[in-house]
Amino acid sequence: MRITVIGAGPAGTLLACYLARRGFRVEVYERRADPRLLDEDESRSINLGLSARGIAALTDIGLMDTLRPLTVPMRGRAIHLPGGAVPFQPYGAHEGEILHSVLRRDLITTLVDHAEAQPGVTFHFRHRLVGLDRETAAARLVHEDTGAASTVEGDAVIGADGAFSQVRAHMHHGLRAEHHQEILEWGYKELTIPAADDGSARTRLEALHVWPGEDALIVAHPNRDNSLTGTLFLPVERFGEVTDPEEFLGERFPDTLDLMPHLAKEYAEHPVGHLVSIRTSPWHHRGRVALVGDACHAVYPFYGQGMNSALEDCTVLDRCVGDHPGDLGAAFAEYQRLRKPHTDVLDELSKQNFVELRDRLRSPLHLLRKKADLLLARALPGRWVPLYTMISHTTVPYADALARARRQDALLRGAGAAVAVAGLLAAAPAVVRLVRGSGRSTVTP
Ligand code: FAD
Repeated sequence: MRITVIGAGPAGTLLACYLARRGFRVEVYERRADPRLLDEDESRSINLGLSARGIAALTDIGLMDTLRPLTVPMRGRAIHLPGGAVPFQPYGAHEGEILHSVLRRDLITTLVDHAEAQPGVTFHFRHRLVGLDRETAAARLVHEDTGAASTVEGDAVIGADGAFSQVRAHMHHGLRAEHHQEILEWGYKELTIPAADDGSARTRLEALHVWPGEDALIVAHPNRDNSLTGTLFLPVERFGEVTDPEEFLGERFPDTLDLMPHLAKEYAEHPVGHLVSIRTSPWHHRGRVALVGDACHAVYPFYGQGMNSALEDCTVLDRCVGDHPGDLGAAFAEYQRLRKPHTDVLDELSKQNFVELRDRLRSPLHLLRKKADLLLARALPGRWVPLYTMISHTTVPYADALARARRQDALLRGAGAAVAVAGLLAAAPAVVRLVRGSGRSTVTP
């Protein structure tokens, strides 16, 4: 069977590897140029946090050992507080519970190389999907440079073409489909923390750096050349209002002025990106079309799970295809049934984590709660697992992780209430003595 994959992002390239392993012929069409042919400047690459789900998928196709040397470990969060303190919050209770920062370009080129080395996989760059017959899986494409149009026939089309998927639009057109899209009122801009003149890192490298704030937030991932790529998040209209970014950031996050020597220039030159969350259904059509990754569930980036869940989709879809040999209709339906409840939960978690990063990280109470979580995880290994650990360091399905975290929270609240009651009971004799001594009939503790 021949499958047409649209989009050579993380999901499309990984899926090509999986499908080739199952013996499919795979034609991948991508509107951008081959990232292997661009020089560094042309393909300015963002970096992404790779965690357990992505790692599991890349290990499954035998690529993690090749990729690991291209990543920088992030062992926890370095939280930059206004007074200058930078407390470090480890990611997990155990040594191996870390994230890996990887350049999107490094990830994609590794995946494309691996996919192309399999028999039956061909990549066609600079080809944009412009039309789709969802009943026959015929895809219409246009070459971005020459404008030449072509139609590609196949047994099925998989849309891995991101949040604004054209495959999804053509598949849903005229059907009773659900589509829920939100654009966050905050956008983002990239800012660099370059290596120092002597080539060393200007700040602790093996960490995700966060500058939390209610009206501005920065997150920075490390790179292998000792630089870090920062992402400044602001309410979208604020980007235009800020005329002096050094003054604006200097007031809120004083240490960024030393860390970002090119701040003013980059602020002026770099575009504002928008953040979108998408829930949609159906994810497939009669064994002819299916969607993976952001095309069927884009989430805000604040849990660092968009790409990881896109890679995990491919693992789930691959298993469904294996469980229903020769019946893509059944495989696609099973894939959506198994997967959608979990990516819906991820959408909620990603929205909540925006509030955590922005508002709660500075709170001593929040830091204390995080510490308590880690202590409990160490004291009760396997029995107490913080939600963040389950999402980022395990492959427990998202909805199951949330349900378990809620049970743990209820226990903690119960224990808190028990401690309070025990405290009252212990204090009762003293209260009675006080009441008797003062001759009053009631005392409110
Ligand atoms: P995409 O990466 O969007 O790839 C889609 C591909 O399809 C693109 O190459 C595009 O050119 C191509 N395409 C689109 N339309 C067409 C067409 N008509 N014809 C042909 N080709 C087409 N996720 C994490 O897991 N960890 C992180 O730390 C993280 N950080 C992020 C930070 C920011 C600021 C943002 C915005 C996102 C972040 N994400 C992160 C999310 C992550 O980038 C996405 O979830 C992930 O890239 C989705 O992969 P995908 O392959 O589904 O789609």
